[in-house]
Amino acid sequence: MEQTGSDRLKTALLLLAVAGLVIGLAFYLADQARIANLVWIAGVVPALASLVIEILRSLSRGEVGLDIVAALSMTAALAFGETLAAAVVAVMYSGGTFLESFAEGRARREMHALLSRVPRTATRHRDNGLEDIPIDEIAPGDRLLIRQGDVVPVDGTLASETGFVDTSALTGESLPVRLMRGAEAMSGATNAGEAFDLTALRPAKDSTYAGIVRLVAEAQASKAPMSRLADKWSLGFLAVTVSIAFAAWWFTGDPIRAVAVLVVATPCPLILAVPVALVAGLSRAAHFGVLIKGAGPLETMARIHTLILDKTGTLTDGRPKIVSIACYGDTSEQDILRMAAALDQASKHPVAQAVVAAAKAEGLRLPVPSEVVELPGEGVVGRVDGRSVIVGGDGFVAGRVGRVSGDASGMAAGSVLVAVAIDGQMAGHLVMSDPLRDGAGAMLNGLRREGVRRILLATGDRADVAERVTEGLGLDGVRAGLTPDQKVLLVLSERKRGPVMMVGDGVNDAPALSAADVGVAMGARGAAASAEAADVVLLVDHIDRLGSGIEIAHAARRIAVESVVVGIGLSVVGMIAAAYGYLSPVEGALLQEVIDVAVILNALRALRISPSDALRV
Ligand code: ADP
Ligand code: MG
Repeated sequence: MEQTGSDRLKTALLLLAVAGLVIGLAFYLADQARIANLVWIAGVVPALASLVIEILRSLSRGEVGLDIVAALSMTAALAFGETLAAAVVAVMYSGGTFLESFAEGRARREMHALLSRVPRTATRHRDNGLEDIPIDEIAPGDRLLIRQGDVVPVDGTLASETGFVDTSALTGESLPVRLMRGAEAMSGATNAGEAFDLTALRPAKDSTYAGIVRLVAEAQASKAPMSRLADKWSLGFLAVTVSIAFAAWWFTGDPIRAVAVLVVATPCPLILAVPVALVAGLSRAAHFGVLIKGAGPLETMARIHTLILDKTGTLTDGRPKIVSIACYGDTSEQDILRMAAALDQASKHPVAQAVVAAAKAEGLRLPVPSEVVELPGEGVVGRVDGRSVIVGGDGFVAGRVGRVSGDASGMAAGSVLVAVAIDGQMAGHLVMSDPLRDGAGAMLNGLRREGVRRILLATGDRADVAERVTEGLGLDGVRAGLTPDQKVLLVLSERKRGPVMMVGDGVNDAPALSAADVGVAMGARGAAASAEAADVVLLVDHIDRLGSGIEIAHAARRIAVESVVVGIGLSVVGMIAAAYGYLSPVEGALLQEVIDVAVILNALRALRISPSDALRV
């Protein structure tokens, strides 16, 4: 709603221009040509003045826009006494921008839809009764009643036997999903079946839906649909228009020909159609759970050359399970797990959380660690029960304490390897398995078909582990043992070949995501640092949505380009006709309006884009 001020101005200018045109026509028909002229001029001046102010503003930012053509054509028409044509252009121009904001509003509808469903209250079980509370008061562990049609207010687990939830507003999956007791229900989903009970896992502000809402709101506030695509074309179009106009004037000596040419060029389909098509693409992507933060990233997505994937939590599920524990000293397997998990309580890394969960599942009691220092994405150093403990990647730990003879890490059969040192000695390795996400292979094949040339894996884990996990995926390279800083360097060096898309998760990938041309974050839960740093957020934990996102970006860009090529083609034909005197300025203005409407309608087709693999879960 931040733009009501400029919307009101647009409406006022349109009304003034229409009033000027109509009242002028009335005087003209009453044989008062002189008064008619004055009225037409009066109708044009406000639109022209506000246009000139806009142009000066954007010129001061170094942007040359196509608004210049509109200003030129109105000025030229006024200067050469074509006041009626000037009045028509003023109406068409203000009508065109009006139409554009209307179309853009339509295109944004689906993003609004995400925001408008946020529930305010929830129903909680309390002392054998029910009470209504604001959702901010929900605490983890609360038992909530979710009625039919209710939006699930916080992430939670199902406490009833079964439940049906519909996540279509968040993920585009059209069929409701059946959940069994204990299954996790995502906040923002709608209860599509009978009422069920839900045990809250997180407060509302840390739940998935709150993260999504915050990201969408931010993406909307930073709307800048002016895109590079339009920028690139506009200078050329400006040059062509002005040349044809001058040539017509030069060869015929008739300035009215030039006026007619300029008028046919105004307002240009380029400024109208491109934003509409791209914003419609954003909206479509949001419908399938891919939040793209603006037209710029959408366009870049359509041109990606290299894709860099993080391993843990991105290509893999990120919830590794312990397969075996190797020990090298006299510390028992259980103690290694206990010490590692105790220290890892201090870390938010997904591997750390998995270690803690495994220890708790064994029924181990975890002491509170002290003197904790974490290097995000590498490991943690600290004290547990008075002993010094280091837990983290194999390179990180071995780099601090060295290896012990008989170190079995090289034979590890898992897909994540966590090293544990106690009292300055390598004590053991936790060998964990972390399967690839469903559909990862198919998604990568799809991306290649969409034109992605190079696919690399960038991981903080060891090379042998990374290679084993990605066997058969046909990657173009695996870069292992990287710290978060080295991931940034990798992104920067790959950017020399072409636009790079980096996909990652968690805090430690945030710098690499910002360094990429397009950073993509997995998941929006509580809007982690990576989701803030990213240009694109996959709102659901399905990596295949990346393919859908790129497909939509391609299609939206194709529709934008198509609208531009056809629209400009028709405009140029009209300009040439005008140069040869086949179109009067007034006819030219009317013709252009027909072209603009056609082109905007074509751009709105982007609202119906359907990625081929969108609904595969
Ligand atoms: P990836 O790049 O594959 O997503 P990360 O760079 O996040 O992986 O982590 C690399 C490796 O470092 C993990 O596989 C894990 O072995 C280890 N690691 C990092 N932080 C921790 C931690 N807090 N606790 C245990 N292991 C960790
Ligand atoms: Mg990771």
